[in-house]
Amino acid sequence: MRTEETRPVRLEDYRPPDWLVETVELDVSLDPKATRVRAALTLRPGANGAAPAPLVLDGDGLVLKSLVLDGAELPAEQYVASADRLTIAQPPPRAFRLEIETEIDPSANTQLMGLYRSGRIYCTQCEAEGFRRITYFPDRPDVMAVYTTRIEADKTDAPVLLANGNMTEAGDVPGTGRHFAVWHDPFRKPSYLFALVGGTLACVEDRFCTMSGRDVVLRIYVEPGKEDRCVHAMDSLKRAMRWDETVFGREYDLDIFMIVAVSDFNMGAMENKGLNIFNDKYVLASPETATDGDYDRIEAIIAHEYFHNWTGNRITCRDWFQLCLKEGLTVFRDQEFSADERSRAVERIGNVRGLRAHQFVEDAGPLAHPVRPALYHEINNFYTATVYEKGAEVVRMLKTLLGPEKFRNGMDLYFARHDGEAATVEQFVQCFADASGTDLGQFMRWYSQAGTPEVVAAGRYDPRAKTYRLEVHQNVPPTPGQPNKEPMVIPLALGLVGRDGRDLPLALADGRVLERGVLTVSKPSETFEFTDIGAAPVPSLNRGFSAPIKLVANLTADDLRFLAARDSDPFNRWQAVQTLATRLLVDNVAALRAGGMVRKDLGLLDALAAIVADGSLDPDFMALVLTPPGEADIAREIGRDVDPDAIFSARAALRAAIGEHLAGALFDHYRRLSEAGPYRPDPASAARRTLRNTCLDLLVATRRPDAVSLAARQYQVADNMTDRTAALAALSLRDVPERAAALDDFYARYRDDPLIIDKWFSLQAIIPEPTTLDRVKALTAHPAFSFANPNRVRSLISVFAMGNQKEFNRADGLGYDFVVETVLALDPKNPQVAARLLSALKSWRVLEPRRRALAQAALRRVAAASALSPDVNDIVVRTLGESGTA
Ligand SMILES: [Zn+2]
Repeated sequence: MRTEETRPVRLEDYRPPDWLVETVELDVSLDPKATRVRAALTLRPGANGAAPAPLVLDGDGLVLKSLVLDGAELPAEQYVASADRLTIAQPPPRAFRLEIETEIDPSANTQLMGLYRSGRIYCTQCEAEGFRRITYFPDRPDVMAVYTTRIEADKTDAPVLLANGNMTEAGDVPGTGRHFAVWHDPFRKPSYLFALVGGTLACVEDRFCTMSGRDVVLRIYVEPGKEDRCVHAMDSLKRAMRWDETVFGREYDLDIFMIVAVSDFNMGAMENKGLNIFNDKYVLASPETATDGDYDRIEAIIAHEYFHNWTGNRITCRDWFQLCLKEGLTVFRDQEFSADERSRAVERIGNVRGLRAHQFVEDAGPLAHPVRPALYHEINNFYTATVYEKGAEVVRMLKTLLGPEKFRNGMDLYFARHDGEAATVEQFVQCFADASGTDLGQFMRWYSQAGTPEVVAAGRYDPRAKTYRLEVHQNVPPTPGQPNKEPMVIPLALGLVGRDGRDLPLALADGRVLERGVLTVSKPSETFEFTDIGAAPVPSLNRGFSAPIKLVANLTADDLRFLAARDSDPFNRWQAVQTLATRLLVDNVAALRAGGMVRKDLGLLDALAAIVADGSLDPDFMALVLTPPGEADIAREIGRDVDPDAIFSARAALRAAIGEHLAGALFDHYRRLSEAGPYRPDPASAARRTLRNTCLDLLVATRRPDAVSLAARQYQVADNMTDRTAALAALSLRDVPERAAALDDFYARYRDDPLIIDKWFSLQAIIPEPTTLDRVKALTAHPAFSFANPNRVRSLISVFAMGNQKEFNRADGLGYDFVVETVLALDPKNPQVAARLLSALKSWRVLEPRRRALAQAALRRVAAASALSPDVNDIVVRTLGESGTA
């Protein structure tokens, strides 16, 4: 583990590399405890001026065995090798070949960065800075090289040997029990995309014929016996490959594309060139083991990693500040894929719910940072909702501003201009400016200014002039290090909805044209006047969530109910109900804190009743409308002096009120939507199950005995994991007698399948009762639990800290204590997982005073601990916002 003091890295300090690497020949001899790595690099001076610079290669915990330059062993006085660095002060001022031998211990690698063992499988994770844990290297993304990898291993220990590219040679090592394989990747790539796998793996194979008629072999490698759970992943991969050809004109380039599923993995998946490595949770699925939600996520993540082949691999990032260049863009691409494959409106609402729950919360707290940060201490902590999800919104806004054709032209130009390069955000945006003839200078602020823009819109109808004036004010709140902000370019899609529900024609009085119904807002305050408006309209603003802003509009409850019933934009139909519910919930939280009672809003309940009675709507859309804003959304809306107990109670009361008021319709939907045939994972079937299970959950929220027995029955008779876990959730989250038996039964049924037992851990972690903390602590000693496996830690402890607002934020502070103790215990073994868990405390400042003090004290205990990893140290320093700790 690194012990050096954290060093800030600044975007403004970027310099091109002093030395470039042309080719890398790796020879890796696998052994569980002592793996020998020989790396032969052909190096040449970069373009940094005349004097040859010292050669400084990155390392992390390495032991150098030998060093050979141009065939001759380098004398010890000519270099300095430490665990973290290899320096040759006076390298030859020309191209040369350097052979480096190191030895590493994959079994001891609990960080899961670099080369490690997952179960009995060797695998790698190199993004962001893991390659330096394998060999000394200029480990930065703008050093792109052609890799040839020879892997050697014991034949019984690792019968399958994989690396990036195409396999060129394989065979036995004569006179030994070992064998080898050689893989060559003809595409230049940065070191973070290197991958290697060795082990006993079963394989499912398929083929794909590309748009130009090339035949590509597709393989998914899994633990033997799990081959039958790869059908959905393979199908998703083929659909993603076809979609990228159709929508973006992008074709796959190697002869083979491989996915390997491993059980110990810090992230979701990794897009290594030609050899994606996945957390097995995002590959394996069968009706009996995976929910519809799992199917959905597998499809999205398989597609995401595949899409990286062009956005990330062929064109990579110049430096880690440009992370959004590959991640924001690729999230946008996978969201568009899912929208095309499934219901566009439902996908959009789901994405926005996720954005608000994670990114908006991040943007409002001490960890707020721009989509492209200008400084970091530990890059591992910038794989954030802001870089990924807000980064995707920024790309989507480009498309909204320019229109689909010019957007596609800009993407085509980007691929043509920068293929094979390590690019920047400026270069990316310049392609759209050039392809469309648009000045995008002000738009770049979306990359540099943190914080969620607040937009206040007020409309007024003048019946005499038949005009509608819309005043729009924008403000970007201060964030750490950025007290003052400049106005943003905001694409505000809108409609003026007439009383018959139809959109009125939009004509601006000053002659400006409203392309595609999008108003471009770019000043702190602006007024737009629409002419020839025959009667007072209801404005439908930020349709489809065209900009990631917090919008406040002067809409009455009547206006919102009207939009909920009549808006042609499904997103804003949903949003209207959310706004009504949020207003009610904020009022009720205040009432509860003042010792009063919650109020019912019959208008809201009637609006919901009208939605569930509307036979033209998709069932999963109905389910989304029936789901009130989450506790984190309500807390964000309240903004200060937050009391998680009151928020929980207000939300639970609303859900019970919906269940009571709509009971008849909910029971009807539940019965009507029961499936006759066997389980099918297709989107339409999944949508029906979603609504049916939402109905069940709202009915159980009322604690009606008939609803509780319905859930108990569904649990027993379910023939698929979706219905079984939905019923279990309905029962387990309430203190009903059926709960204990159902939880015991679930464990007994699935005890041999860790991924299913993760669901069992998670459901218990989110029980909103005071005994949950003790339950979670006890479960950490359960034989199925392991602190060494990131999926287990996340399913139990992260879900408790991030998904159970009420019990994590206990008034006695014991929830915080438990989480920070876990962080400190995990940190020496796996700093990335520890740092991510600690970020659960990021909203501590908005809590009511008592909890705020307890959370701060818990954070200070972390800050005071000795030998923190750079990962955890960075998070605790920024979360506290106090200097002097680092
Ligand atoms: Zn990605």
